Amino acid sequence: MRSPDQEDYADARVIARPDHTISRKDIDQDALRILYRLKKHGYEAYIVGGAVRDILRGEHPKDFDIATDASPWELKELFHNSRMVGRRFRIVHVYFGNKNIEVATLRRQVPTDTSDDDLYVEEDNAWGDVESDSFRRDFTINALFYDINDFSLIDYTGGVDDIEHKIIRSIGDPGVRFQEDPVRMLRAIKFAARFDFEIEEATRTAIKEHHADILKASTPRVTEELFRIIGQLHGDVGIKLLHEFGFIDVLWGEWLEVIGEDGFEQVLDFFARIQKEADEGRFYPLEFVAAGLFVPLLGTIDPLDNQYQKHASHLATEIRALGDVMDLPKRMTAAMMSLLRGQLYLLYFPHRKKNVQRFVNNPDFDWIWSYHDLAFGEVTELHSIQEVWLRAAENRTSVQAGWLDSRDSRDVFSFRGKTGGGRYRPDEERSIINKRRGGRRRRR
Ligand code: ATP
Ligand code: MG
Repeated sequence: MRSPDQEDYADARVIARPDHTISRKDIDQDALRILYRLKKHGYEAYIVGGAVRDILRGEHPKDFDIATDASPWELKELFHNSRMVGRRFRIVHVYFGNKNIEVATLRRQVPTDTSDDDLYVEEDNAWGDVESDSFRRDFTINALFYDINDFSLIDYTGGVDDIEHKIIRSIGDPGVRFQEDPVRMLRAIKFAARFDFEIEEATRTAIKEHHADILKASTPRVTEELFRIIGQLHGDVGIKLLHEFGFIDVLWGEWLEVIGEDGFEQVLDFFARIQKEADEGRFYPLEFVAAGLFVPLLGTIDPLDNQYQKHASHLATEIRALGDVMDLPKRMTAAMMSLLRGQLYLLYFPHRKKNVQRFVNNPDFDWIWSYHDLAFGEVTELHSIQEVWLRAAENRTSVQAGWLDSRDSRDVFSFRGKTGGGRYRPDEERSIINKRRGGRRRRR
């Protein structure tokens, strides 16, 4: 309940307003409102984490997290439009329409006993100050505080220098930090790939040493980070780093075995093309990107072998296997499956005129076609088949809408941006792609 002056940050580098580039213009209006309200009531208030990092990197942050010395209960009192959330640690969401801003009470890390083999931190709930809250964070670039009191930037861990030099550096002993929370290793890769930063030597060594500990982390957290890595910008760089550090072997070993190292290169190519598309302002949904993991299985197909069913069920098996390992929502594996079945359809049935007409009017045809184009557009043996589909698509009657308008809209586990306004409709699609198969199934 006091505003600190600079002496409170004795061990920090405090950068005064004239000497850094963060201006209130960069900060979300509602976040500013929260900061000022906290200040008015005598609390400390800071913008923290990714938002500070992104503004310093010259990018507009996708969300603004706030830290304060007010307790969650005091926050509830101060902001009527708010809700307390979180089991592991309590934070407060302050709502503005359908947007919410996270406000967290400054914490310190519960000290870990490094003599213990198992450093996994379950509880993390003790209050702290800017200093202790800095040191519980994962990387130096994520541990910067913008103080609304005097607009200064508070840096306890060297994050400003590391942003400038493009370095991902663990705070504290990386081996200890990664054993406490193995997901941090994936986060290091995520940030390195997304920002084109280097992972600092000791951090890198620790990831190599502890990568297998990722199996101790909870599947939803791992899955979330993996999908961030492949679904975000530079997913090609991200998956390559995952492979280099051994995470693919540990997490998706069976998948890697099925596609082989050559297959892995094909996946890299596909992701690199997706990145090129993103550079030109075209973004794909997450299922689309994830379905790219199975490009190698399509590459071996000979459309003249009449084995549509066999390949469809092989793909289904492999997708299901990955879906099980990652605990993916059914909706997502179903979308991946239909996209891949669509690929088979393009290969096997270009000579069936009626089916071709119907198929190009399928609301997801453009996604299916884009996938084919990105993966196999340059395969000359397929040009005659591609001609058929392209010509049919030119003459179609239904209207197909545009692309996703930003990379963030890919964080959604459903096809969208086309005709359905965000809903994926597997049944409708199945009636086109799998008519015969559906009929046969019903008879059984
Ligand atoms: P993004 O732009 O991807 O949201 P971010 O840095 O904001 O990046 P979040 O997952 O939103 O990442 O986390 C917010 C902040 O919380 C981070 O900047 C970091 O300081 C801290 N943090 C998040 N996860 C961890 C973790 N596993 N260990 C320690 N600190 C973490
Ligand atoms: Mg964030």
